[in-house]
Amino acid sequence: MLEYGDDEQKARWLPGIARGEGGWAMGYSEPGAGSDLASLDLKAVRDGDQFVLNGRKIWTSDAMHCDYIFILARTSPDKPRHQGISLILVDMDQPGVQVRPIRLISGSSPFNETLFEDAIAPAIDVVGGIDNGWTVGKRLLQFERSTHAGINISGSQGGRSAESRLPQTIMRYAPVADGRIADADLRERLVRIEQNGHAQRLSQQRVIEEMQARAPGFASSAVKLTGARNAQDGHELVLSAMGLRGVGWEGAGFAAEELEATREWLRQKALTIAGGTKEIQLNIIAKRVLGLPD
Ligand SMILES: Cc1cc2nc3c(=O)[nH]c(=O)nc-3n(C[C@H](O)[C@H](O)[C@H](O)COP(=O)(O)OP(=O)(O)OC[C@H]3O[C@@H](n4cnc5c(N)ncnc54)[C@H](O)[C@@H]3O)c2cc1C
Repeated sequence: MLEYGDDEQKARWLPGIARGEGGWAMGYSEPGAGSDLASLDLKAVRDGDQFVLNGRKIWTSDAMHCDYIFILARTSPDKPRHQGISLILVDMDQPGVQVRPIRLISGSSPFNETLFEDAIAPAIDVVGGIDNGWTVGKRLLQFERSTHAGINISGSQGGRSAESRLPQTIMRYAPVADGRIADADLRERLVRIEQNGHAQRLSQQRVIEEMQARAPGFASSAVKLTGARNAQDGHELVLSAMGLRGVGWEGAGFAAEELEATREWLRQKALTIAGGTKEIQLNIIAKRVLGLPD
């Protein structure tokens, strides 16, 4: 909104956003458009001073708690696919917008399918101009990836993550001999995770300094990717240290911490999918950070 909104949109939306009023969902992914987002198919058809929306979004995080959703919609099906897309703000409190929960393997349902059936959005709520949504949407993804990388958009480093407590958990569960973890493989993996965590914090700092000069750039893809991998490795190691205590799903035979470890291990799998998969981040790093040819 700050970069692409017009003055009227800024005046209308920013004060409420700054006060924290209203929750916003993100409507990008569709059943046939994830990594290949430009193939999205939700249709927005102009009808006077509004758009009529029809189609389906998927994996909409927290949509059941949200008041608004920003969507990428196809406004010009005849144009080349990247050029016929618009970013539109939609009020979710209308009969044309339905939210259906999707249950995950971890047991929770933070995700939804969001259906649009003749939903309405005023034409003045297209951000960045009609058919310019690909540019706006990509820019927004850079901010999302920075947040995933533990960097908030004001340029500060996120607090120490839950991952920083993993070594203590591992030390409590891993068999110890002569005052150190007995298993040499576990020891080496723990040291590597600690080293990677330190490197990650230095890289976050580097991205923050870049951001202070400009705004979140492509390097956030690299920090997002390494942060996700470190977190996944850490939770994998917790399970290795717990042994059979780390495979519990429910029941009195396991401590709450152990049951949580199993679920958290599964939850972490989402980190290399959300906000663009690891393969997509590798493509971006190769092309946009390292400048390798297509
Ligand atoms: C926790 C979480 C929260 C999410 N929240 C939201 C949300 O709020 N709003 C929203 O719109 N979406 C959300 N998503 C969806 C997310 O953006 C997509 O899942 C993601 O972009 C991948 O798309 P897909 O699931 O369709 O997988 P696909 O694109 O079908 O990918 C399947 C596999 O193929 C690989 N692949 C695809 N293309 C290439 C390529 N060109 N090169 C190499 N490999 C490739 C992928 O890396 C992946 O391994 C969320 C996802 C998660 C996990």
